[in-house]
This record gives sequence, structure tokens and C-alpha cells, in this order.
Amino acid sequence: MIRLSDQSFTNHRYHTNMILQLKANVTPEQKQGITALLTKLGYKANEVITQRAHYLVGIGKKEIDIRQLGHLPGIEDIHQVSDDYKLVSRKWKVEHSAIDLGDGVFIGNGSLSIMAGPCSIETEAQVDATIAHLIANGVRIMRGGVFKPRSSPYAFRGLGIDGLKMWHTKARAAGIKIVSEVMQVSQIAEMHDYVDVFQVGARNTQNFNLLDELGKVDKAVMIKRGISGTLEELLSSAEYVFSGGNEKLMLCERGIRTYERASRNTMDINAIPILKEKSNLPVIADPSHGIGIRDFVEPVALAALVAGADGIIYETHQKPEEAFSDGQQTLDFSESAALIKKMNKIRSLLMEF
Ligand code: PEP
Ligand code: MN
Repeated sequence: MIRLSDQSFTNHRYHTNMILQLKANVTPEQKQGITALLTKLGYKANEVITQRAHYLVGIGKKEIDIRQLGHLPGIEDIHQVSDDYKLVSRKWKVEHSAIDLGDGVFIGNGSLSIMAGPCSIETEAQVDATIAHLIANGVRIMRGGVFKPRSSPYAFRGLGIDGLKMWHTKARAAGIKIVSEVMQVSQIAEMHDYVDVFQVGARNTQNFNLLDELGKVDKAVMIKRGISGTLEELLSSAEYVFSGGNEKLMLCERGIRTYERASRNTMDINAIPILKEKSNLPVIADPSHGIGIRDFVEPVALAALVAGADGIIYETHQKPEEAFSDGQQTLDFSESAALIKKMNKIRSLLMEF
């Protein structure tokens, strides 16, 4: 008699899926030999080629001893990974990866990555003022949306690609990197040369077509947690991008929808250590959307850092009261400067632990 619980354990928990990292100089014959053996053992070999390495993700149901494979020529490393997400799992790669955005700007290398800027890019004057504020405070990455997902179709929906080009010209001249949201597949090519990090918004975390396409670009991607998304779902979304060929990836906790109405969202601080434990990707926290209340962005940002976040993304504007979107959760520049100081202090304190 098959009991359902047994079956689900066999299929889910104890299957012995694996990741094989191939040697950089693996030959087609060696690859064929490995794939043939995997197939014989009842495994489907999914080939993944990223900017950094060449993998075979073996998916199967039978228990096998991976030592049967380890001796084959062409294999660099082999690990069993029982998590549903695999390449982003720390069961595969214990050290966290870092992303190099160029010009000495890194995410996840142990330094504190601060990404600040308006909810929406609005005007040239706003971009100039924001860049000047970031430069004065040592921040190298600016956030801002030009394609805005808005709950109401009548709300400001962004300046579009022309706004991004204007912003890019100014940011490049100042040595500032750009993180901006991509909402649909057709925008990837338009935006590609003008962003350093593609942001996948909370409303698109499970837009699998978008994730597939972002797997094909050689640009960093930040995936936000879905509004009602579990951490497992977030990690599986990241797996889409990685298995598509792009491992320049980071995760972002931005609060979830709960029954609580005192804040816009409920910032899930728990998510930060859990994601750091479960995945090999850098973890960013967004306290602005996480709590949605200007006065409380600072304590939530600091809490996220203490919880282990690699970076903080938050909204700032020269006049939050006049912001086209999300002014209620946006810091003015003096609040932003104070926050940056405190974050840097907390980070150096944490280094002493
Ligand atoms: C944003 O960053 O402005 C945004 C829309 O974020 P989220 O997708 O987290 O709501
Ligand atoms: Mn916003």
C-alpha cells in the first residue's frame, strides 16, 4: 500500500538531484559521456551555461551514489541538492557570491551596498539633485523607476525609456550605477544599455517569461519578493534566471501582504537570515516598501542590516511631499544623509562581532 505521506517524502525530500559543475575545458565528448551516464541512471541532464561556469543539473527520482559520476573526466565538482531550487542553493555553493558592477562597485562582497533614489524618475532637475546628494554621501548606486507598476491606471506610470536615457547620461558622467525596474520582456532590450541592475518588481516575481529572458542577459538582476510570495517561491524565481544562464543575481525582501493594516506591508526581517542561510545570493532589504511609512524607514533599514542584509535599497527625493509616487515612504535628503551615516556605523560595528 502506498501512503501519500511516504510518496511525497520520496518525491520531494529524499530525491537525489544533483549539480555537476563541468571543467572550463570540458570537451563535447566528455559532456556526452556524462550525459549518457546520467540518462542511464534515470536522470535528465539540464545544461546551464552562465557567465561564470558550465553546469549540468541532473533531475531524477532514483537514489544514486554520486561517486559513480565523480570520476568521469570533465567534471570539476558534484553535489547533491535536495532543495527544489538548486543552483541558487547554499547546499551547492556554501560561499555567497558577489556581483561586480564595474568601477569598484560591488554587491555582496562584504561591503555595504546602498541603493537610493526616488520611487520614480520625474525630471532632469530631480535627477541632478539626487545624484549630487548621492555623491556627497558616498553612495554609488541610484534607484528609480521609469516603468512603474501602479495599482491605478490613472496614476503616474513613469517617464519610460526617454527618462531612462536622460538619467543614464547624467549617472554615467557622475560614476553612478543604475537600478531600475523592468516590467515586461520587450523592455529588456530597450533598457539593456542604460541599466546596471534590472529590478524585477514584487508584482512580477513569478512572471516566468520575464525571468527566462533575464537569464539570457549579462547584467545583474535583483528579484523582489512577491507581495504574497513565500521565500521558497522567491528562490525558485531566482533559479529561473540562474538556470537561464545569468548568475549575477540578488534577492530583495520588500515586505509582504499580511492582515496588519498599520503599515503598508509587513517587513519580514526573518526572511533575511533565512535567505542568507538557504541561498548563495546577496540579499538586499527595501525598508521603504517594507513598512511604507517615512518616519520608520530608518529603524527598519538598520534592523535589516543587523539581520545580515548585504545592502539596503530605499526611496529618497529632494521634496518627498511633491514626489509623483510613494512620497509617504520617501526620505528627504537630510533624513537620507542621516540614515547613510547610521548604516555605515552599524556596518562597522557588525564587522567587530
Ligand atoms: C519600487 O521599487 O518602486 C517598487 C514598485 O517596488 P515593489 O515591486 O517592491 O513594489
Ligand atoms: Mn516605490
